[in-house]
Amino acid sequence: MGRITPQPGIEGIALYQGGDSTLSGINRVTKLSSNENPYGASPAARAAYAALSETLELYPSSDHGALREAIGDVHGLDPARIICGAGSDEIIAFLCNAFAGPGDEVIRTEHGFLMYDISARAAGATPVTVPERDRTADVDAILDAVTAQTRIVFLANPNNPTGTLAQQAEILRLADALPEHVLLVLDAAYAEYVLDADYDAGAALVDARENVVMTRTFSKIYGLGGLRIGYGYGPQHVVDTLNRIRGPFNVSAAALAAGEAAVRDTEHAETSRRRNAEWRDWLAAALADLGIQSDPSEGNFLLARFADEAEAKSADAALRGAGIIVRHVASYGLPHCLRITIGDEVGCTAVAKTLSDWRTGV
Ligand code: PMP
Repeated sequence: MGRITPQPGIEGIALYQGGDSTLSGINRVTKLSSNENPYGASPAARAAYAALSETLELYPSSDHGALREAIGDVHGLDPARIICGAGSDEIIAFLCNAFAGPGDEVIRTEHGFLMYDISARAAGATPVTVPERDRTADVDAILDAVTAQTRIVFLANPNNPTGTLAQQAEILRLADALPEHVLLVLDAAYAEYVLDADYDAGAALVDARENVVMTRTFSKIYGLGGLRIGYGYGPQHVVDTLNRIRGPFNVSAAALAAGEAAVRDTEHAETSRRRNAEWRDWLAAALADLGIQSDPSEGNFLLARFADEAEAKSADAALRGAGIIVRHVASYGLPHCLRITIGDEVGCTAVAKTLSDWRTGV
């Protein structure tokens, strides 16, 4: 008898590599590899989490009602059309499992988030990668790739790891042109950082269509990456479908309580957004002074471009030597780039100083 074999497609999955968090021989590292909030979670969220330690024996709410209400209040969304997950990663997996299977195609852009590819394969579907233009989503390339087999188009806006934004008019053009059998998933993990006045994270389109879903996370501006909480907002028929395959207790009580407090603490989010924008501008200018280019970023990270892969690796080694971990994004088709999370003042100035020393050969 042979060994049991996994479903087709699963052996083709390359393991997702999270950002490193340790460096051997260095006690204090500055971790700028996973786009975490350097200012941490809101004090209210931390207090809600701590309070939960009194009742760890209790199962969490299975309908996530209080968190959905809070999200609805703060963002003006219909709570009935929100679904919560263990990170937005879980919502991405639900979408693939529910709507794509063997013979179906799932589109992702060239430098798009790798979990789209992994979740598509896990569902037995075929991932299709379309080119970007200047590290930005190209609506015509996406539309050219749509076939009768296409089920989902994933578009992160702002995109990770490039930080670039697709213009609102382009998103509308894409939604208008997609056939009804295709679900457009707007992944707005970095929405709270965006300053562009034209930007809509996707809620307006969700409300207006039957085939658009928006995903959001508490892992970025809300500083709750360790708790695993995110959500999707979609048409009722999509949310009802996803709820059928959702485990009843997929989100922990601590994550629900902390998430509710975090989303209601709009001041903490505002402060994080403002500081991020300040230090993002500062770091982009400091890198440019060293001849290191980056695209205007709307997220909490910059994609630093080097002459070639060897130069990117050399800069990465210099940063590691100084105890700073960033992300070399070769697996995103960007071997000559490092994605650098925008840290606080100490983190950003340390990056700039280290790269300046590296440039001058100090
Ligand atoms: N989408 C994008 C574009 C991301 O960058 C991330 C986090 N790396 C996620 C989704 C998933 O985040 P989480 O599962 O922590 O909500």
